[in-house]
Amino acid sequence: MGKTVLTVDSITARYGPVEVLHGITLQVNEGEIVSLLGANGAGKTTLLNCICGLHGDKEGKIRFRDTDITHVPAELVVPRGMAHVPERRQIFSTLTVEDNLWLGASHRMPKTSKKEIAKEMETVYERFPILAERKWQLGGTLSGGQQQMLAIGRALLSRPQLLLLDEPSLGLAPLIAKEILTIVQEIRSEWGTTVLLVEQNARAALAISDRAYVLSTGTVMLEGKADEISNDPRVQSAYLGSS
Ligand code: ATP
Repeated sequence: MGKTVLTVDSITARYGPVEVLHGITLQVNEGEIVSLLGANGAGKTTLLNCICGLHGDKEGKIRFRDTDITHVPAELVVPRGMAHVPERRQIFSTLTVEDNLWLGASHRMPKTSKKEIAKEMETVYERFPILAERKWQLGGTLSGGQQQMLAIGRALLSRPQLLLLDEPSLGLAPLIAKEILTIVQEIRSEWGTTVLLVEQNARAALAISDRAYVLSTGTVMLEGKADEISNDPRVQSAYLGSS
């Protein structure tokens, strides 16, 4: 097992007076794909937002590699090597595909040269040929699946050691959703990127994951290796549509 990249220790989070995470503890090790599963409203997005510095009203500790990042804001978390692809992608619809990709690398310049980043962009285009074909098109004109590829490609250009993906298959046709999750798996093997994945499709997520945590109303209900979680009768009846 690789060394621990992310440690979430007893995180509680609130929206105003309402506590929605009640002491979540989890860890992600180098090179792993770890899924966060759970019903709507379980707290998955809030937890990702806590980790990447977008949700401030929290207690507990979050460590990224050797650093306490509990209270580090999002704009300072990314340069440390964590990238977040939020739910519904949030690409810039009035910018071209190419400009969206440049934005992913913006914080690395001028330390990394434009030439170096252009070279990395070529690897992203090789990985996502459809983006190369459409590099001068506006982001908003892409299909949902292509926008998701763009969001992932943009995140990769920040050179993340840890990629947080929030429901990458949301709203996509089943075949495209499957393609996106296959891409996530390939990115882990080709780029060595560690992934924390929130996914509504538990079966598809478990198929590409090493381990998973199942959240239920703001607590970890179950954790374990992906195959153990897949075989757990509670998960089968609640999330995998079988008993
Ligand atoms: P989904 O799959 O629907 O996105 P989730 O597991 O990601 O669900 P969260 O979106 O993190 O869950 O929501 C956790 C709880 O926090 C829910 O009870 C939700 O209603 C509440 N919540 C989320 N966002 C806000 C907000 N901006 N203000 C108040 N409550 C919120």
